[in-house]
Amino acid sequence: MFAAYIWNIEPVLLSSAQKRMETKRQCLWCGMPISGRLDKLFCSASCKNAWHNHITGRERRCRDRVNTILWNNYKILQSLMETGEKNVLLSSLPGFMPDYVTGYRKLHNGRTELFCFDIMYNKTEARLYNIRQASDLLY
Ligand SMILES: [Zn+2]
Repeated sequence: MFAAYIWNIEPVLLSSAQKRMETKRQCLWCGMPISGRLDKLFCSASCKNAWHNHITGRERRCRDRVNTILWNNYKILQSLMETGEKNVLLSSLPGFMPDYVTGYRKLHNGRTELFCFDIMYNKTEARLYNIRQASDLLY
């Protein structure tokens, strides 16, 4: 008797819940209503592909922009090391973007060592100093 009660009620409850969900769900890419599975996010395969291409394209452009900045900083630091300059004014480094680093390490004395891949340096507001090759122990 109990099973029959569930059998009669459950399909009606699921059906109305599904209808409520379907009227609220919209495709993440085009905004059209979605029908079908409750976990569906897109109305079609083409919308799913367009959304993923958009997201991965944005991520790739962001990653490429940051990598370009870091690589430019690295080439500048590398050229300073080649000429033996260990202490330079930031104003003398056009194109160097000091806010971009690949890592940092706070020391007990309060100073911070910055990394651009395998090159280390210290920085004040106005200059870079102690530019040097990072020891192999750090990597
Ligand atoms: Zn769509």
